Amino acid sequence: MTLCVLSHGHIDHMGGLPALSCPIWVGAAELAAPPIYWGKGAPFGWPAGQCHPVQGDMGLCEGLRLIATPGHTPGHLSAHLTLPDGRQVILAADAINRISEPDEGFGDAMDPVAAMDSFRRLDRLAAATGAVILYGHEPSQWSGLPKAPQPY
Ligand SMILES: [Zn+2]
Repeated sequence: MTLCVLSHGHIDHMGGLPALSCPIWVGAAELAAPPIYWGKGAPFGWPAGQCHPVQGDMGLCEGLRLIATPGHTPGHLSAHLTLPDGRQVILAADAINRISEPDEGFGDAMDPVAAMDSFRRLDRLAAATGAVILYGHEPSQWSGLPKAPQPY
């Protein structure tokens, strides 16, 4: 089964949605408002009939659990993966944009208090499981990550 999990509705994360025909899992609170563009352009909205709203945490399939991480945006989702070899990974997406963001107080978040709570939750999960956290926009981490088609 092919599907898409959308972390949130910022245009830099959803610009390719019109090219998809598969189901899209997205936080219910994201769908309550139009996608978020910067500037005056708003070329498309949520794809009709494709979006499955996610309320809270949800196990989507074996090895993939969606985690509600509000703050950056109201319906932000992160993902906790258990890979076939047992390694665990947390795709924080923009719940934690950069490694420095918690110390900076999440000034880019729509709700900085909720963003800090979501960070603490992911941090506790990583400590409890040994998961590696992949940040949404951390340049120092990006250069060391494998790129498609190389697997993680
Ligand atoms: Zn974002």
